[in-house]
Amino acid sequence: MNKESIYGLTFEQLSAWLLEHGHKKGRASKVWEWLYRKRVTSFVDMVDVNKDLLTLLEKNYSIQTLTEHTKQESADGTIKFLLKLSDGNLIETVLMRHKYGLSVCVTTQVGCNIGCSFCASGLLKKDRDLSSGEIVEQIMKVQLHLDQVGKGERVSHIVVMGIGEPFDNFENMVDFLEIVKDQKGLEIGPRHITVSTSGLADKIYEFADMKLQVNLAISLHAPNNELRTRIMKINRAIPLEKLMPAIDYYIEKSNRRITIEYILLKDVNDQKEHALELAELMGDRRAYVNLIPYNPVDEHSQYQRSEERTVLDFYDTLKKKGITCGIRIEHGTDIDAACGQLRSKQMKEPQTK
Ligand code: SF4
Repeated sequence: MNKESIYGLTFEQLSAWLLEHGHKKGRASKVWEWLYRKRVTSFVDMVDVNKDLLTLLEKNYSIQTLTEHTKQESADGTIKFLLKLSDGNLIETVLMRHKYGLSVCVTTQVGCNIGCSFCASGLLKKDRDLSSGEIVEQIMKVQLHLDQVGKGERVSHIVVMGIGEPFDNFENMVDFLEIVKDQKGLEIGPRHITVSTSGLADKIYEFADMKLQVNLAISLHAPNNELRTRIMKINRAIPLEKLMPAIDYYIEKSNRRITIEYILLKDVNDQKEHALELAELMGDRRAYVNLIPYNPVDEHSQYQRSEERTVLDFYDTLKKKGITCGIRIEHGTDIDAACGQLRSKQMKEPQTK
C-alpha cells in the first residue's frame, strides 16, 4: 500500500500525531525544519532526529510520492512540470516568472467535473481529489528544482488555478493553504496566494468565514446568465443571482478586492455590448477584472482567439466605465501553455505506469 505524503500534515496535525505515538510534541519543529527549510528528500537525511522517530516516520509516511514525468521549459523561463502520482495519474504544475517573484500554479484534482466549455482539463472527467500532501508536494518539487539550479531562488507566490475546482476539494485545499502559509516552513504570505473558483457559492461563504486572507479569483467569463451557462454549465446550478451575493460576502469579510477572470472568446463574449454589460454587473464592487486572451486548444475548435484590437477595445470600454482591469500577460506561449494541454496531450500517448 502506498504511504501518505508527510507534506499533507499541518504543523498542528504533525505535533498531535507525534504526541499520540509517544514522542514529545516539540520534536515536530525539528521535523518541520528538515522538511521545509533544509528540504531533505528522505527521512534518513534528518541526521539529528532520533532513530525511533525516524523509524516511525518511515513506517507511516513518504516524503516523495510524486515523480517527474516530463518538464517543458519556455523561452520566458516558464516551466511546466508533468508529475506522476503514486497511482500512475498525471498532473500539471507550472512555474512562472514575474517581476514581483516566482509563482507556482498548482493542480487540486485529477481531471475536473465542472466542464467549462473552453478548458482542455474539463474534457478529462474527475478521477479523484488530490490529497493535501500531493498539492503541497507540487510546490516542493518546484522549490527543489530551484534549489538544484542553485541561484537561491524561492517560490514566493502561489495560484491555485491548475486542473480541478479547488472548492470541490475543500478540506484538502484548506490544509494545503495552512501548510504553505506556516511561518516556520515555506512562509508564503496569504496575500501572495490566489485561489480561483468557477463560483461554488456555498463554499465561497464558508471560505470567507475562515478569514484566511488569501486572494480569491472568480472565473466569470460572461456578463449574463444566458451566455455564462453556454460557456460554463455550472452557471445553470449556480446562476449570477447566487454567485454575486457570495462574492460581495467575501469582499466584506476579507476586506479585500476580488479578482474577476474573463477569458475573451472571439465573437462569443468579446463585443462592446458584453463589456458594457460586464461594467454594469461589476458596478462599484471592489473588483479587478483580469482579461485573458484565449489560448486556442485543438480540443475546442469552436473557440478562437479575439483580435488584439478587440481585446484593447474591450479593455478601454471597461476603463471608461470606471472598472479596474488589466490584460493578462501570457506565459510559456511556446510550450503547451493552456491549462491541461500538456496533460491531455500525454493522456493520448501510450502510458508507462
Ligand atoms: S476551467 Fe477550471 S473549473 Fe473549469 S473545467 Fe477547467 S479545470 Fe475545471
